Amino acid sequence: MSNLQIEQFSARSDNFGVLIHDPEASVTASIDAPDENAILEALKRRGWKLTHIFTTHHHGDHVEANFALKKRFGAEIIGPRDEETKIPGIDRALSHGERFAFGTFEVEAISTPGHTAGEISFHIPAAKVVFTGDTLFSLGCGRLFEGTPATMFKSLQRLTALPGDTEVYCGHEYTESNARFALTVDPENSALKERAKEVTALREAGHPTLPTTILREMATNPFLRWHDPSIRRNLKMEDASDEAVFAEIRKRKDNF
Ligand code: ZN
Ligand code: FE
Repeated sequence: MSNLQIEQFSARSDNFGVLIHDPEASVTASIDAPDENAILEALKRRGWKLTHIFTTHHHGDHVEANFALKKRFGAEIIGPRDEETKIPGIDRALSHGERFAFGTFEVEAISTPGHTAGEISFHIPAAKVVFTGDTLFSLGCGRLFEGTPATMFKSLQRLTALPGDTEVYCGHEYTESNARFALTVDPENSALKERAKEVTALREAGHPTLPTTILREMATNPFLRWHDPSIRRNLKMEDASDEAVFAEIRKRKDNF
């Protein structure tokens, strides 16, 4: 097994573009297709030819370049079964737990609805990496456009069940504003305070704050810390269910 090579770059205003490449099989996938030109430049920089697009969900800022890239490269578009009719140019639809080969790697679809009704995350166990689209962000999670807090809660639990050292790539660079909110619900968390400082420094230097890891998010991301006694005390929800704590944090973020 070769190493999976990953190229992350910014696209549009605050989206991330990500290319993954298996040198042994000479295959390259774009995780979502936010911006044709940014993706073309990244391909050129690395000298890769696009063969696949992995679509996390149907929002325009994730599928805009699907048709253009498919036309140019004949790339195969793989996306969520539950949004099949909304993904431009989709060739192959995946349900939860379905696996497929990307070169020498096996990719697993994890159903992570909540932001949209059918969103999926792409997990590559052998490379210890997951692409979470707009479900999980660093220090945040996606807005609930087409799902309930219960739906998103279950999706996030699926992601926290992955090995802690799994690297997480997300759809957007929202970490700095997420950090400001996170500190309002979890102000005593020293790992979060450290991360917030690091995030400020990275952004000031013009660097991305991603990827992160599952373990780091579990230590710092309030949307994954429904069990934490100090957050529960702050919210005056010591005896509430995990799901209710999550729902309250999501509601506060919506009004932040
Ligand atoms: Zn979205
Ligand atoms: Fe988005």
